[in-house]
Amino acid sequence: CIANQKLFTELNAFITPLQSLGTYADRIRDADIRRENGASKSPLDGRLIAIKDNICTRSLPTTCASRMLEKFSSPFDATVIKSLENAGAIIGGKTNLDEFGMGSHSTNSHFGPVKNYFDTVNGSEKSLSAGGSSGGSAVAVATDQCYAALGTDTGGSVRLPAAYTGIVGFKPSYGLISRWGVIAYANSLDTVGILAKKTSTVREVFNILNHHDAHDPTNLSNATRSRISNAVSQLHSSTRLSSRPLRIGVPIEYNLTEMTSPVRSAWLSALHTLETQGHSLHPISLPSTKHALSAYYILAPAEASSNLAKYDGVRYGTRAEGPDKSSEEGSTDYLYARTRGEGFGDEVRRRILLGSFSLSADAMDNYFIQAQRVRRLVQNDFDYVFALKNPLGDDAQVENHSSSTSSTETKVDVIVGPTTASLPPSLASVTGDEDAAVSAPLHSYVTDVCTVPASLAGLPAVSVPVSVTPPGEAQEDGSLGFNKVGIQIIGQYGDDDLVLRVAELLE
Ligand code: GLN
Repeated sequence: CIANQKLFTELNAFITPLQSLGTYADRIRDADIRRENGASKSPLDGRLIAIKDNICTRSLPTTCASRMLEKFSSPFDATVIKSLENAGAIIGGKTNLDEFGMGSHSTNSHFGPVKNYFDTVNGSEKSLSAGGSSGGSAVAVATDQCYAALGTDTGGSVRLPAAYTGIVGFKPSYGLISRWGVIAYANSLDTVGILAKKTSTVREVFNILNHHDAHDPTNLSNATRSRISNAVSQLHSSTRLSSRPLRIGVPIEYNLTEMTSPVRSAWLSALHTLETQGHSLHPISLPSTKHALSAYYILAPAEASSNLAKYDGVRYGTRAEGPDKSSEEGSTDYLYARTRGEGFGDEVRRRILLGSFSLSADAMDNYFIQAQRVRRLVQNDFDYVFALKNPLGDDAQVENHSSSTSSTETKVDVIVGPTTASLPPSLASVTGDEDAAVSAPLHSYVTDVCTVPASLAGLPAVSVPVSVTPPGEAQEDGSLGFNKVGIQIIGQYGDDDLVLRVAELLE
């Protein structure tokens, strides 16, 4: 469905664009014949999948939207690419993103910002933020340029763009999908996520990618996978779905003062839908939520500063022109510094400085170590409220929970809250054209307040679009009549299937 090439080019969703439809025609036709003969390789046979440009592909360049990797071509395919191709999927273009995944609006790209949707108001163009960092993948799906897309989600980068473009964005439990060949931002948080218009499509892609991969040491072994699925199915058959309705947790800390009225009404409407279907609602408290964002913005840059050290123009990266030695004999500092100064954008440099500082000997205890403690508290909060015991967890930690709620009746199956506090802001407001204060990086960090807790805890979470009516209400929000709000469903570790089932209940 590559219909309006001009519009698509202006949206800037791709760094390596899709080929003309004719290029894929033979493969699509072959897959159609296989489908007719009942010999399909998989539900993805002949489907076009767009790939975020921080996932390595042998046939297409992989830039991470960075000048540093502008000329990089991977000598191998990421495991997720191999799995998709074995399933018959066609790897289409490579999508635009915030450089190395760092950002919330897909504006920190060496190739220019992604535009979500645009309109002309009083003769001047008004575009919306596509969310970030997988904004290109989200826009490619939302505009029907592909069947589904892969993104990466470290602190919300699949869920936020899905919310801002009105589609489904799923971040599975950490360690289920292989990260081999996915260029690292923050290893302990990075996950491959899936974007599509329907949850059923997300599920099709997830089923292909959810398998053990020995190349990725953090990928779950088959033994752990079967232990988790036994624990999950035991709870499924004994206490829920078959014999009783779901218990839905409503996190009071997600009721932010900054929440705009379309988001609040979409959240209420989603809860109402679930209640009408017979499920019960339970207010829950996740007391460490308020510290999660600060912890995330210590931990993620710390890991990033270490991961990005290899881009020095010698081991990796486009080497800066000029002499490769400083006046001091034998030193390569000069070359490294110029390469990194020219190769990385402002936000990436900011994160490297932040991360190097928080890992330095003097700051370590106050920042990095404290943030690790907060991360554990966030995990404990979730373990405390879920009926399913964390299959990777340890009971002692959960008992130390600070919340006053204690009876087992407070246990819930899933948590339902907003993905973010507002509708997509205008692109101008986040690039600084309108108001420099709004464009401050801090403002962009705050956008992630509802998505980072599940990332810190490694939990499965999905954002599904819920319509708000009338759309006019959305316009008051400055959002050009955009009337879809992202609602987030979070489940216990390993309960990915339930999270997707609840998403389906809201479609
Ligand atoms: N906005 C967050 C960040 O900049 C999340 C990014 C992501 O999930 N890749 O770190």
